[in-house]
Amino acid sequence: MMSGVAHDHADRMRRAAEAAGETGLTTLLVTPSADLVYLAGYAPPPLPRLTCLVIRPHRDPVLVVPALERPLAEGSGIGELAEIVSWEETDGPHALVAGMAEGGRVGCSDRMWASHLLRFQEAFSETDFVTASGVLDRLRSIKDPDELSLLERAARYADETFHRIIQSPLETLTERAVADELGDLLLEAGHETVAFTIVGSGPNGASPHHEPTTREIRAGDAVVMDFGGRTGGYCSDVSRTVAVKRQPKDFDRVYEVVLEAQEAAFQAIAPGVPAQDVDRAARAVIRHAGYGDLFVHRTGHGIGLEEHESPYIVEGNDQALQPGMCFSIEPGIYLPGEFGVRIEDIVTVTEDGAARLNRATRDLEVVR
Ligand code: ZN
Ligand code: ZN
Ligand code: ZN
Repeated sequence: MMSGVAHDHADRMRRAAEAAGETGLTTLLVTPSADLVYLAGYAPPPLPRLTCLVIRPHRDPVLVVPALERPLAEGSGIGELAEIVSWEETDGPHALVAGMAEGGRVGCSDRMWASHLLRFQEAFSETDFVTASGVLDRLRSIKDPDELSLLERAARYADETFHRIIQSPLETLTERAVADELGDLLLEAGHETVAFTIVGSGPNGASPHHEPTTREIRAGDAVVMDFGGRTGGYCSDVSRTVAVKRQPKDFDRVYEVVLEAQEAAFQAIAPGVPAQDVDRAARAVIRHAGYGDLFVHRTGHGIGLEEHESPYIVEGNDQALQPGMCFSIEPGIYLPGEFGVRIEDIVTVTEDGAARLNRATRDLEVVR
């Protein structure tokens, strides 16, 4: 199926081919994944038979598909963007692809199955296989106006979900029930699918990727809620932390530090700034407050067709931020056995700074 919105896939494939050539790659091999959706708008069922988009500098793209999926590929409209070459059940599709490439350095999409990569390695001679992410992440990380408006729409739906979940009482509900309700609200707000719903209450909130349990939420709990869905193929991802009825001990102090760290991260963002500086800005606030050891993850991750993609906002990533990049800023403090606090917004880099896509209140909310 096509991805729903008319992105300029021909231009994306042309730019990918150009960038591949500039970085010394003879070929990009892209199997079903967000990379394929991004480049070609094509998302066949994830089955073992090889589907592979072959991109080469100065040559037209080719989509290799199993013969039985030729009608699917043709129906998707991809034939207007790439030559469709199909293979029969008894053909060796990896050798077919090898025959189209020149060897040298070949970039493979990150999400390519190992079974395909291993067969490509047998079929190609004198070829170095490298990740295509050096080329594709760079393209995918800078969102065009269509993508930005889809991410904005997704963020709006996530904000609405948060505002609705805190309208009704959380006390006595299980984490599981709140997670289910978040899922329903994500869809009601307009998402086409739910991606994830994390609800960590009381001590469970101290585990950043906690899976909701049957624990009942009580008065005096802090509750971390982190959730997202997809619309038009693009993801939302927002975290808020609330207190139920009353705040646990030290909650307001910890909340204030996380909020300040998040704001410091936001203020640090501008074109040309190394990604790690945004992480450092958030971390400095938390360290100075004495909670440095309890901020146990990176400050953020890019978002787009995938919930987690480039750029990663982490120490060691000196990649310069550029206008159009979209990523989360989500510092947290996790007190084992007590509670966690995380505040997460998706932001975009603008010409002179940054803008938040999420607008849900970041004020400390004490809910019922
Ligand atoms: Zn996460
Ligand atoms: Zn999140
Ligand atoms: Zn996130």
